[in-house]
Amino acid sequence: MEFFEIMNTACINEKLYFDKEKYDKFMKYKDLIKEWNEKINLTAITEDEDIVKKHFIDSIKIFRFSLLNTAKRIIDIGTGAGFPGIPISIMLPEVEVVLLDSLNKRVNFLNEVIKELNLKNITALHGRAEDFAREKGYRENFDFAVSRAVANMAVLSELCIPYVKTNGYFIALKGPSVEEEINEGKKAVVTLGGVIEDIINVDIENTDLKHNLVIVKKIKETPKIYPRKAGTIQKKPIK
Ligand code: SAM
Repeated sequence: MEFFEIMNTACINEKLYFDKEKYDKFMKYKDLIKEWNEKINLTAITEDEDIVKKHFIDSIKIFRFSLLNTAKRIIDIGTGAGFPGIPISIMLPEVEVVLLDSLNKRVNFLNEVIKELNLKNITALHGRAEDFAREKGYRENFDFAVSRAVANMAVLSELCIPYVKTNGYFIALKGPSVEEEINEGKKAVVTLGGVIEDIINVDIENTDLKHNLVIVKKIKETPKIYPRKAGTIQKKPIK
C-alpha cells in the first residue's frame, strides 16, 4: 500500500472516490508497464514512484475539469501506454472509453492491460486519428476527446476536435507553459468548431510539476474538409 495515500489524496483533491480495488488495478498496471517496457518502448519513466506521480496522478488531474464526470463516451487520441485513458477508465468504470494509437505494439500492450485489469467498456484501436475521424460512429460521436503529449495545439485540435459532438469538450493535457502554443493554436480551434473556454493550472501533489488543462468547448460542427490527410496537418497546420 506504499502509494495508496498519495493517490488517495490526489483523488480527494479532485473529488474522486478511491479504494483498494482501484489501487490494486493501478499497481497491476504499473507492473505491466515495467514488464512490457523491457520488450517495447512504452515510456521513459520507469521508477515506481515516477510512474505513480508523473503518469497516474498526472492523468487523474484531468478530473479538475469536473464536467468530465458527466461524460458517457470519451476518446483518448495518441494514448501511447494508456495516458490518460486507462486512469480515466479505472476511475469511471461505467463510462465508455476508446483508446486510439497509431503504433500497433502499444495497442497490443493496451489490450493486455484491459484483460489483466478486467476493465469494462473500454476498447483499444489501432490507427491514425486522421482516418478514424472520417468513420461513422467516431466522427462527432464523443462527449469528450482527451489527449496528452501528442502534438502542439494547432495540430492536436485537428486530430481531436472532429471526434467531439457539438456541446462536448476537447481537453488537452499540457505542460507548464502554454501561452504561446495557445496563441498559435487559436485559429485552428475556431476553424474546427471550438472555442477555448478555460486554461486550468494543476499542481501534481508532492512534486514541483505544474501542468495545464486546455479546455475547448465544441460549439459547432467541424467542416467536412477536416481533418486533412496525415502529413498535411503537421506540415501545414491551420494558423
Ligand atoms: N498520451 C500518451 C502519454 O501521455 O504518455 C502517449 C504520448 S506519446 C509521446 C504520443 C503517442 O501518440 C504515440 O504513442 C504515438 O504513436 C501516438 N500518435 C501520434 N500521432 C498519432 C496519430 N496521428 N494518430 C494516432 N496516434 C498518434
